[in-house]
Amino acid sequence: RAKEQGRGRAERYSTTLAAEIADRAQLERDLRHAMEREQFTMVFQPQLDARDGRVVGAEALLRWNHPAGLKLPASFIQRAEESGLIVEIGEWVVGSVAATIARWAALGVQQRMAVNISRREIDNVQFFHRLRAALHGAGAPAALLELEITEQLAMHCSDAVLDAIAALRADGASIAIDDFGTGYSNLARLRELPIDRVKLDRSLTEKVAGSAEARTIAQAVINLVHGLNCEVVGEGIESSAQADVLRVIGCDVLQGYALAAPMDEAAFLAWLRLPRAAAPLSRALGR
Ligand code: C2E
Ligand code: MG
Ligand code: MG
Ligand code: MG
Repeated sequence: RAKEQGRGRAERYSTTLAAEIADRAQLERDLRHAMEREQFTMVFQPQLDARDGRVVGAEALLRWNHPAGLKLPASFIQRAEESGLIVEIGEWVVGSVAATIARWAALGVQQRMAVNISRREIDNVQFFHRLRAALHGAGAPAALLELEITEQLAMHCSDAVLDAIAALRADGASIAIDDFGTGYSNLARLRELPIDRVKLDRSLTEKVAGSAEARTIAQAVINLVHGLNCEVVGEGIESSAQADVLRVIGCDVLQGYALAAPMDEAAFLAWLRLPRAAAPLSRALGR
């Protein structure tokens, strides 16, 4: 009886596993089709100066216009990374971002644009050759580009990649550490990295308005990052109370739904032209 039960479990397990493998294979095929059919698109989320509400940049975020509905990165980025397809997708992202930077600059919109890079993409120095080619081809100044890499990735990249990052920075591009505070933050290592900004993860910023402890931690991290001559970007700001606290404790830049959600290019450019573009922040800051 126990044996039968065991077999039942094993069968259930293998059925689930088989279904999972089939799902993954399907997602991979869908991702390849998405590349071929140009179903990827970028949206842009403003980053605002915490003190005066000026727009200082935007983060470009990937979206998949799937026939069944818009898909967020959470539903496909990991699979794209595991399958290696992220290299191809990332190549498209970099090309798209370079073209957008150039297009906006021609319209007089000269602001930094941040792009997310995952581990598989940056592992290879070829990434940097393609990036340079994309910027050069589009006529986009490197100074308007920011690469967002995660702490984990930054801690483990090879010396060759570190050199490539340093060279890109020498050309004027900036580097941000994304999702800071989610991993085992290695502050000593942070000091050795060629970085310009640190983005405080939402898990840190979401509690600052309600918890004195969270506020103390955020304050300590901000002081430390400033000590490294870097700026701090607060991510995932959903309330004016959070924006308020972060400004008071010295956070330099704010990003989140409370200020502006990610928008497609047309909506972003229209939003920029609004005279009240900075109003949500000014209100958040009680000005
Ligand atoms: P991330 O780089 O940390 O990006 C911030 C995420 O938070 C975005 O989710 C953004 O839409 C969302 N967000 C912004 N404001 C708020 C807020 O106030 N509250 C909450 N709850 N969320 C907010 P999204 O666009 O779904 O992207 C998720 C992750 O996928 C990104 O996290 C990034 O790691 C990855 N990703 C996005 N685009 C790309 C890309 O082009 N290439 C690569 N490799 N990864 C990407
Ligand atoms: Mg990011
Ligand atoms: Mg982040
Ligand atoms: Mg995050």
